[in-house]
Amino acid sequence: MYNVIIIGSGPAGLTAAIYTARANLDPLVISGMEKGGQVTLTDDLENFPGFPDGLGGFELYQSLEKQAKKFGAEILDDVVTQVDLTGNVKVVKTATNEFKAKTVIIATGSTPRKLDVAGEKELTGKGVSYCATCDGFFFKDKHVAVIGGGNSALDEGLFLTRFAKKVTIIHRRDRLRADAILQERAFKHEKIGIVWDTVVDSIVGDDSVKHLVLRNVKTNEKIEFPVDGVFIFIGHLPNVDLFDDQIKLAPDNTIITDRRTRTNITGVFACGDVQDSIYRQAITAAGSGCQAAMEAEKLVAELQGQAYPGK
Ligand code: NAP
Repeated sequence: MYNVIIIGSGPAGLTAAIYTARANLDPLVISGMEKGGQVTLTDDLENFPGFPDGLGGFELYQSLEKQAKKFGAEILDDVVTQVDLTGNVKVVKTATNEFKAKTVIIATGSTPRKLDVAGEKELTGKGVSYCATCDGFFFKDKHVAVIGGGNSALDEGLFLTRFAKKVTIIHRRDRLRADAILQERAFKHEKIGIVWDTVVDSIVGDDSVKHLVLRNVKTNEKIEFPVDGVFIFIGHLPNVDLFDDQIKLAPDNTIITDRRTRTNITGVFACGDVQDSIYRQAITAAGSGCQAAMEAEKLVAELQGQAYPGK
């Protein structure tokens, strides 16, 4: 029986692992399909405190994992397939194993939202991408479109200028959502153009993307827009499929937690993007991972009849 099982290995899960390991709780982290989570797709984290020269997302993940292991966290490269969180003993299953724990910390993060237009699924990996860091290199001297108007779209669009000869940001409104500093950089960049008030109706190609069918939402005019690739950054969906019959969700599908990362089930905590529809930063994920760990630690101490400082 584990004291705590942490599901997910992004900044939230690994911070929870560092804290619970340092508290001698011998946590088990089950990494999940994408080790390190979304942050590993970020080439350069400019705003993670303490790193004035920036920090690679993958580098952050590696450091967090090293730190968690140093304090004794057990990290298992496996994918959780089923959970029963309702009893006092929490059961977490993977394809080949079953684990039991007193507490569970859910840190499963989120997945990029899809456009849900014709051609998107068929051309994923053939010019449709959700990760500039992974796929930007393949678009050297090509023209790529970036869909979205948030921080991800601009951040990734700016990154793509390192490879592409032209980056066209296509946004459904006439105003961007991204932070002013990113907007300023994008507006100034000679390789970046912006198409306003426009949505993608379909993505067309065979072995690779050939063009987008774009529709102006104000005039309804449709055009064929030739591009070699399209990068989609229109937000994220929380990864809650494993839990949605047991854990209470908000209308946007994030896990509902109180200020202390507690879910509706005693002994189950949630941290990071899976419970955050507002901030969604690596640093806030790490912060909530710390909170979840301290709450789990407190509960385990209570279950063992021990005093816990700062009750
Ligand atoms: P986001 O802030 O939710 O922005 C999503 C963008 O996609 C919005 O511009 C939205 O348009 C557009 N969109 C949504 N659904 C669409 C659809 N079906 N068709 C076309 N466009 C659609 O998501 P994000 O950019 O991934 O950022 C998520 C969080 O991570 C944010 O809190 C952000 O600040 C943070 N983040 C921070 C940084 C950084 O600090 N450098 C970098 C990346 C992400 P509307 O504007 O019209 O709603």
